[in-house]
Amino acid sequence: MIDFKNTQIAFEAKSNADLRRAKFLFNSIKHTWVVKLGKIFVYITGKIKFPVGWLLKPTIYKQFVGGETLQKCTPLAQQLMKYGIRSIFDYSAEGGGSADDIQQTFEEFISSIKYAKGNENVAYTVFKPTALTVDELLEKASAKAELNEDEQKNYGEYKQRFETLCQLAYDNNVRILVDAEDYCFQDAIDDFTEEMMRKFNKKRAIVFTTLQMYRHDRLQYLEKLYNDAVENNYTVGMKFVRGAYMEKERERAKQLGYKDPICPTKQATDENYNRGLSYVIEHIDKFEVFSGTHNEESNQFLANLIEKHHLTRNDNRIFFAQLYGMSDNLSYNLAHEGYNVTKYIPYAPVKKVLPYLIRRAEENTAIAGQTTRELELIKAEIKRRKTEKKLQKNNKRQ
Ligand SMILES: Cc1cc2nc3c(=O)[nH]c(=O)nc-3n(C[C@H](O)[C@H](O)[C@H](O)COP(=O)(O)OP(=O)(O)OC[C@H]3O[C@@H](n4cnc5c(N)ncnc54)[C@H](O)[C@@H]3O)c2cc1C
Repeated sequence: MIDFKNTQIAFEAKSNADLRRAKFLFNSIKHTWVVKLGKIFVYITGKIKFPVGWLLKPTIYKQFVGGETLQKCTPLAQQLMKYGIRSIFDYSAEGGGSADDIQQTFEEFISSIKYAKGNENVAYTVFKPTALTVDELLEKASAKAELNEDEQKNYGEYKQRFETLCQLAYDNNVRILVDAEDYCFQDAIDDFTEEMMRKFNKKRAIVFTTLQMYRHDRLQYLEKLYNDAVENNYTVGMKFVRGAYMEKERERAKQLGYKDPICPTKQATDENYNRGLSYVIEHIDKFEVFSGTHNEESNQFLANLIEKHHLTRNDNRIFFAQLYGMSDNLSYNLAHEGYNVTKYIPYAPVKKVLPYLIRRAEENTAIAGQTTRELELIKAEIKRRKTEKKLQKNNKRQ
């Protein structure tokens, strides 16, 4: 069993001031009203163009974001690597959707792939397909609706951008994760990701698809992918997450009158997640695996599977992943035990990363136990350091 409660290892890289800041932050965002008030504040200051960087940068931004640019994140990646943790730089600017926004985001994704080339601090690159086009088009393509001439042209351009990123990743021998988002876009994204895996994953997994295991149809899809990989002779790049849009998905299904795509209970999602992990480890000759979760049991479950199947802890095909600013007790303790660990590190200027920050704050308020867990661990480490200091003082006196 891995000791995920070892706070000394978990917070090795954090100064006392870092811990105090994190404690203050998690104490604040555990209250729903604080997050709601923060959301209104951000909305109003955005409308009147009042700068908020001075307030957010030393607090919530510092906790969850690596920096404004890739270059500014470099010291962080180097520091994480000292503890055996590799980075994934996630350009997290959201909003916009104009042709200029799409082009600028696409270029930033390209920069992140070039940055990762031969860089041992970086484990994967990542992009969101929805950032490469407009939502309406992806939704129509997913529903297999007929596209008019203009839409066909735009859809072709979207696919071209998608393929350019995969091709560049392939040329630079860098792994690339295709994030999953709303259910209504996912069929089109899945289809094209499969096409890219068939093309670029012949020798090893370069392109990774994402399965949101809160969907009750994902285990069948996983088997379908395995069969396709056997038939077409490629390796599936498999990123597992539980899924981040549950409330929204349930609400949408209800409103539009289709079957809720999400598992009926949390337990069903948890079982799905772990069954997915078991399946890929049992068929590891056809998979590379990325497990993105803050769930302690799922992390222990994957570690147990690695032992059970006599794989090495640092098997390059298997990675554990958490988000920067969260669950350091999992990341640092797993890395300490010799497993491959990576952190998603969002980066973007403050103004552009606000929706991401609000989501993190909401998630930490909403997810049962997440904030309490973070807070308890931070408090335990602060206490441990005080006790250690006292002991050292006493020893000196004697
Ligand atoms: C490295 C990394 C990458 C990620 N990338 C993506 C991505 O590409 N796309 C994406 O959608 N999300 C992504 N996420 C977020 C992820 O999907 C989860 O929202 C988040 O990690 C919380 O789930 P958990 O497994 O960490 O923890 P847990 O706290 O154990 O699980 C919470 C999750 O369980 C599910 N759940 C909760 N209650 C119920 C219920 N009543 N019924 C059914 N299911 C329920 C929901 O999915 C909820 O988010 C990523 C997370 C990480 C760590």
